[in-house]
Amino acid sequence: MVEIIENKDITSFTTFGIPVKARYFAEYSSERELLALSRKEEFLNNEVLHIGGGSNLLFLEDFGGLVLHSAIKGIKEYRKDDETVYAIAGAGEKWTDFVDWCLERNLAGVENLAHIPGEVGASAIQNVGAYGVEVKDVIHAVECFDTQTRKTVRFSNEECRFGYRDSMFKKDDVRGRYYVLRVSFRLRPGGIPMSLDYGPLKSLKERLGKYPTIQEVAREVTNIRKSKLPEPSETGSAGSFFKNPVVPVHFYKKIKNGGFGDVPAYPAGEGMVKLSAAWLIDKAGMKGVRFGGAMVYDRQPLVIVNAGGASGRDVMELSDEIIRRVRTKFYITLKPEVNFIDTGIKITVLGTGGSKGTPELGCECHVCTSDDIRDKRLRSSVLVETAGLRLLIDPSPDFRQQALNLRLADIDAVLVTHSHYDHVGGFDDLRPFCGNEDMPIYLRSDVNADLHRRLDYCFREHPYPGVPTFKMNIIDNNPFYINGLKIVPVEVMHGKLPIYGYRIGKFAYITDASHISEEEKEKLEGLDVLIINSLRDKPHFAHFSFDQAMDMIRDLSPNRAYLTHLCHEAGCHAELESRVPAGVSPAYDGQIILSTR
Ligand SMILES: Cc1cc2nc3c(=O)[nH]c(=O)nc-3n(C[C@H](O)[C@H](O)[C@H](O)COP(=O)(O)OP(=O)(O)OC[C@H]3O[C@@H](n4cnc5c(N)ncnc54)[C@H](O)[C@@H]3O)c2cc1C
Ligand SMILES: [Zn+2]
Ligand SMILES: [Zn+2]
Ligand SMILES: [Zn+2]
Repeated sequence: MVEIIENKDITSFTTFGIPVKARYFAEYSSERELLALSRKEEFLNNEVLHIGGGSNLLFLEDFGGLVLHSAIKGIKEYRKDDETVYAIAGAGEKWTDFVDWCLERNLAGVENLAHIPGEVGASAIQNVGAYGVEVKDVIHAVECFDTQTRKTVRFSNEECRFGYRDSMFKKDDVRGRYYVLRVSFRLRPGGIPMSLDYGPLKSLKERLGKYPTIQEVAREVTNIRKSKLPEPSETGSAGSFFKNPVVPVHFYKKIKNGGFGDVPAYPAGEGMVKLSAAWLIDKAGMKGVRFGGAMVYDRQPLVIVNAGGASGRDVMELSDEIIRRVRTKFYITLKPEVNFIDTGIKITVLGTGGSKGTPELGCECHVCTSDDIRDKRLRSSVLVETAGLRLLIDPSPDFRQQALNLRLADIDAVLVTHSHYDHVGGFDDLRPFCGNEDMPIYLRSDVNADLHRRLDYCFREHPYPGVPTFKMNIIDNNPFYINGLKIVPVEVMHGKLPIYGYRIGKFAYITDASHISEEEKEKLEGLDVLIINSLRDKPHFAHFSFDQAMDMIRDLSPNRAYLTHLCHEAGCHAELESRVPAGVSPAYDGQIILSTR
């Protein structure tokens, strides 16, 4: 029987060397054991993370759920013909052991992928690649445990939909669903290398004075890697921290003609090129830069290393600084390749004001003239950080100021509650965050129609260069996923207008509501943190008054509730604070609230 260990130190299951614990941890060696585990309470009632060698993970904090690791081993040949040898390997095998197994049998295909850390299972999830070869070139099929049906399923190479460091397993709604049990490979007998087209391998034949063997290729690759990349056993890292950005050709031309020298670029489909992130980081002056214990590796600026005593947050701060500086210089937003792992939610309250903000222009009331910084209320909005994502709920007309106050480095997606100006007036200011990639926006179809009218210049066939570019994702009143993170829209009434609030884990954000149906209230059960609107004492046809907000909070009974969308008639922060029951507080701009997920 598999044992579930509590409060397990899993630092040695990762390569960053940053101390981390898991609330629960279990390692299984067969499907039977995994099936048994999947019926356990710890599995059913917690967030579950399946890890391999932890060489592409950055834990931002201790993991509050269950961490699983595969110890399914074994590598064997199971079929062969003249041109192909089929081999199958357990997900828990070390990748380098599999490469060695192939080299010993003179089977070509993975020699360029020598010395990549990690395990066989993750190689298929990640589509690992190096020196012109990706593992998708040799994967035949991937055998998985489906956590939804508890059955074993097999995906062909095509079904895995591999892309650059990408596969079907990483898609929004599938992420985390399948656990890789085994991977089968198509290898070529005879020991003739698969590809010598990349960088230093091109000259190998000349340098050896003969056509190289796969063993020679693997040795060459290993030597170069050792000279450029930190050895996980000596220096903590997760390898390449950022993906090489794929950008439209005109970005490339602008950089090339910008006097920075020649940026390394590779064709990446029609009208697109893949640029070297390492080059961009280097030219942005970040080589060797430190934040706390985290440092940009001086031999290879694409790698962030643990230079001693780094925390997950140090690495993230440094990563943000890299993103900011590269964007300032090249208008390109780097996206991390590393998986950021957390089980908490960090909410930054960007604004808590009503549609006019406080102080209200022209008003001299005691709230509008208060000296208390907490009475300066920009228009309502929050930033939600969790699961490695930064989600903005409502780009308010004050978004620019809010982003400046925070030194906001990046946003991954925007959720919109409704199309009133005080919630969407900042759309144009999202511009810097949609440099080379369209910003994903999640919104109702009526909100989308309104925005198309008001921001028509963004949606023309031939827009003015430099306008923000959005990818509109129309949602309905059903859960949807961003990078595997489940988002639950909650339909609330804003006077006569149906609008959305959002629930993410045990946190919910409801603004501009005046009524919530019993059915929708069910979605708000068991919350840790609720942020809800409370306009003022006097009733309003389209907003909860203070008393109505209190009733709703009592009804929903979250652990903690915070009031937002406060107009000047709501009173001063200090006044509100003295009136609210335990567990409820008025929110204020810049406040950081931590919630469980
Ligand atoms: C020094 C260094 C150099 C590197 N060089 C390269 C390189 O050249 N090319 C390259 O592509 N990568 C490189 N990497 C990144 C890393 O080696 C790969 O991403 C590797 O595939 C990660 O494997 P892992 O077993 O450590 O997975 P982990 O980091 O533990 O996990 C990665 C992802 O896979 C999932 N996962 C892991 N195992 C399973 C499973 N059995 N079932 C389902 N999901 C699973 C995890 O949930 C996570 O989402 C490098 C890393 C380091 C530290
Ligand atoms: Zn409003
Ligand atoms: Zn006033
Ligand atoms: Zn409104």
